[in-house]
Amino acid sequence: VYRGRFAPSPTGHLHFGSLVAALGSYLDARSVGGEWLVRMEDVDLSRCRDEYASSILRTLEGLGLHWDGAVEKQSERSSLYNAALESLRPWTYLCSCTRREAGEVYDGRCRAGAALGRQAKTLRIEAPKEHREFEDRRLGVQRGSVAAAGDFVLRNSEGHYSYQLAVVVDDAEQRISDVVRGEDLLEATARQIYLQELLGYPRVRYLHLPLARDAAGQKLSKQNRADPIDARHGGCWIAEALRFLGQRPVTFDEPARMLAQASAQWNWQWNS
Ligand code: GLU
Repeated sequence: VYRGRFAPSPTGHLHFGSLVAALGSYLDARSVGGEWLVRMEDVDLSRCRDEYASSILRTLEGLGLHWDGAVEKQSERSSLYNAALESLRPWTYLCSCTRREAGEVYDGRCRAGAALGRQAKTLRIEAPKEHREFEDRRLGVQRGSVAAAGDFVLRNSEGHYSYQLAVVVDDAEQRISDVVRGEDLLEATARQIYLQELLGYPRVRYLHLPLARDAAGQKLSKQNRADPIDARHGGCWIAEALRFLGQRPVTFDEPARMLAQASAQWNWQWNS
């Protein structure tokens, strides 16, 4: 069975970049009669707001992107992440380095024990040098580095679980078969596969979608205040996102009808 998901972080309203990920994952699921879940990735509560979560859900509904089951929130799933950390214990250690000391690629200097007299609150996992190979449905065989960021964080010094940990636990626990998301996360995939291996989880299939950029070539994101999607013009936005995804145009209509036609003619093997 096919089970997909859209997993936004509620740090802002739905914008064109996240609509592309939502629509791509939705159509990929519905085109094969699969299920489609929505999950709120709000592990880092300091950056997330409930009002953004409800705004995102309202916009999805307005666009006719109806999901299956309940919307899970990562902020309410700590016990699952904790249990996973317990299983990962042989490969993890506490680190006392600040973010600045650690730098972009952490060299593992706390592996043998944190610096004397300093509080060690960041939990990291040892990242092996070996790469991981995986097949991306659009981009073909990929070789990704597990150690791209060195020994990476599973729980930060404030006690927030990391995205890498939460996404792997949730995808497995929700029995997701297919991850369809933006290409910006291609680079994180090897790390996620490594965690799946250690936790004994099955691998999922991956499809990384092209990334929507602004006129200056920057990834559209909530941080750079990409314009929010207004569901009152849902048809226009769906048409625009379909064009971006290289799909054949659909008859302009109310969102639900456009989505039905788009899923019937969904073709992810576009040229891009
Ligand atoms: N929460 C992530 C984001 O908003 C997406 C995670 C994923 O699809 O794996 O970019």
